[in-house]
Amino acid sequence: MTISCSSQITIQGLIKRYHFRPVLDQLSLTLDDSSFCLLIGANGAGKTTLLRILAGLARADEGEISIGANHNFSDHLLRLNLGYVGHEPMFYNDLTAVENLRHYAHLYLLTDAEEKINQTLHLTGLSQYQGQPLRTFSRGMQQRLSLARALIHNPSILLLDEPYTSLDPLAAKFLDNQLHGLQKPGRTILLAAHRPQRLLPIATHIAWLKAGKICQHLPIEQLAECPELNHYLQERV
Ligand code: ATP
Repeated sequence: MTISCSSQITIQGLIKRYHFRPVLDQLSLTLDDSSFCLLIGANGAGKTTLLRILAGLARADEGEISIGANHNFSDHLLRLNLGYVGHEPMFYNDLTAVENLRHYAHLYLLTDAEEKINQTLHLTGLSQYQGQPLRTFSRGMQQRLSLARALIHNPSILLLDEPYTSLDPLAAKFLDNQLHGLQKPGRTILLAAHRPQRLLPIATHIAWLKAGKICQHLPIEQLAECPELNHYLQERV
């Protein structure tokens, strides 16, 4: 199913507290349609929390999120247009890779599921492992399958939380190339990374999450004008 809507993400006044402590504190951020934004921030800054809220896996205490003109973020149809790679693999260990993807293809209401499954397995270099149960997958192979699941329904919003985790250098290079190809008009990508340097040539924007807020959000071309952010990035090479 294709849903035609702008993929601009607008977040206003987002608050998320854990045990009364605000992790996200009046956070506001607008990600333009077709942008690819790198989300950076120290350990515990709240990057995963923000991505989980956007993916619908956690609830904000306050604030508003809208996608395009849609202000009803809990809209089920809208969720069908969102791909997420997070820390949790969220696969069935006793099912094979292809069976796991069939399960998600069913949830995404795909009519051409087998074709899409074959395409995404090929895209993520997993075709030869498709018949293996997930319990035999290495962490890196699971990460590739998470990417396959995030892409199978060709979503217009992609949320990627440290997608390079557990990937070997060859697979990381492969992901660089994939991300390059994933950028397209009408798709908005938000990617959290501790070492975002490798993605600076591909991304359009960078957002720095600090003290519960986005303290900097700028186009990559303007990075040179922000010494503090440059310094932060250089420390993380
Ligand atoms: P990292 O770079 O280490 O992955 P992060 O920026 O992704 O960190 P989060 O995982 O979002 O940060 O965590 C932000 C803060 O919220 C941390 O202080 C963390 O301890 C806290 N936190 C996250 N999830 C929970 C939870 N379920 N219960 C209580 N506190 C939580």
